[in-house]
Order: sequence, then C-alpha cells, then structure tokens
Amino acid sequence: MDNKPRILLVEDEPGIADTVQYVLNSDGFAPVWCSTAADALRQFSLQPPALVILDVGLPDLNGFELFKRLQALPGGARVPMLFLTARSDEIDRVVGLELGADDYIAKPFSPRELVARVRTILRRVAQVSAAQAIAASSAAPPASPFVIDRDRHQIRYYGRALDLSRYEFGLLRLLVQRPGRVFTRDELLELVWDNASDSLDRTVDAHVKTLRAKLKAVAPLVEPIRTLRGTGYALNEDLPAAP
Ligand code: CA
Repeated sequence: MDNKPRILLVEDEPGIADTVQYVLNSDGFAPVWCSTAADALRQFSLQPPALVILDVGLPDLNGFELFKRLQALPGGARVPMLFLTARSDEIDRVVGLELGADDYIAKPFSPRELVARVRTILRRVAQVSAAQAIAASSAAPPASPFVIDRDRHQIRYYGRALDLSRYEFGLLRLLVQRPGRVFTRDELLELVWDNASDSLDRTVDAHVKTLRAKLKAVAPLVEPIRTLRGTGYALNEDLPAAP
C-alpha cells in the first residue's frame, strides 16, 4: 500500500475515463473508476477518497443528485468534488445552484488541465485544514480580547499588557487557552501551582480576586471570568470585541 491520494472518477464514457486515469496515474494519484452512480456510492462508502471527479451526465442518476448523495455519506461533506460538464446549461447549474462543488471543468477538456485543477483543489483543502488545525490549537479564538505573549510571559487584554503575578499569569493563561472549560479549584491548583498539596482552595479564590481587579481596571464593564459556585472557574466565551 502506498499513500497516493485516491481519486474517485465517476464517468460513463470509457474513452474519457481511460485518458483521465492515465494522467492521474502518471501524476502520482490513485484513480478509482466508476462508470455508474451506484458504483460511485458503493466505492465512496467503502472509503472516502481524497477527491471526486463527477460527470454530470451519468446513465443511472444525474451528477447533481449523485453529488448530494455523496455529500450526505459519512465524511462526504469534507471531500472536494469537481464536476465534468458537457453543456453550458450544466455549467450554469453548477455555478448557479451554488451546490458547494469545488470546481467544474467543461468537456472537451485537456487532461493536463484537469490534473492541474485536481492539484489546486487538494492543495487548497490541505491549506484550509492546516489553518483550521492551527486555529483549533491556538491560545484563544480570533475574537478573544486576550492575547498571550509567550515570549514575554505576558497577557494583553483589549490591547493593554496586564501586570500579573506569576500565579495570576498561570491562572489566566489556562482559562484563556480553553474558553468555556470549567476548571475546578483542585485542577487549577494542580495545573498552576508548584506545590499543589501545600496550597488551599482559597489560595485559588484569592488569586482570582486580584486577577479580576486587574481585568476590571482595563474594562470595568466586562466580567471575563465566571464563577461556578462550588465548582470552579471558567473563561466567559462571549466577550465583547471592545471594552
Ligand atoms: Ca456522461
């Protein structure tokens, strides 16, 4: 087994299918040819491919309907799809219906152009998922008024650098990294303090209190830290864009 991207090619004309498979193969892809919509649905269900090339004019189902059914399959919404169209009214439908297809190419087409298009789409999808992964793992969502400056060991709040003690910094950083997540006092002691066993629950409360005062000095009307009575603390997920 190698890791060539699997491309599902749904095309009922063997001549076109042969040509497309040939160029895909020679460009490092692993094409899987299906001549009917039924076959495509079966192949897709077995394993979602990296991309689907979809002829609009199929014998058993039109490409638009197949597109919708593929999208509804597990993992289907994530797989980019490229339409092959033979008529200008089909192109109008692809564009006009805004089906969410990633692209289309009109017949007759150059196989080289098709492969270039496939590469572009896969690159774009890879960039989007990389960006999403970075966004998901970053310290705070883009809209957050908090910015963590790891190098300076500093947190900015609505553009203002906060003057925090070591434990205030640790507490706030933890909360900001997971907006909405409720941390119990025990968890906060464990994660932020050096000697958790020597510290008390009210140590956490005392630091949250001084932290809140410093946040209030920047934005008097905003309460970014929620208290969950008897449980712990969480960062408020819905903070205004401006103080
Ligand atoms: Ca056809």
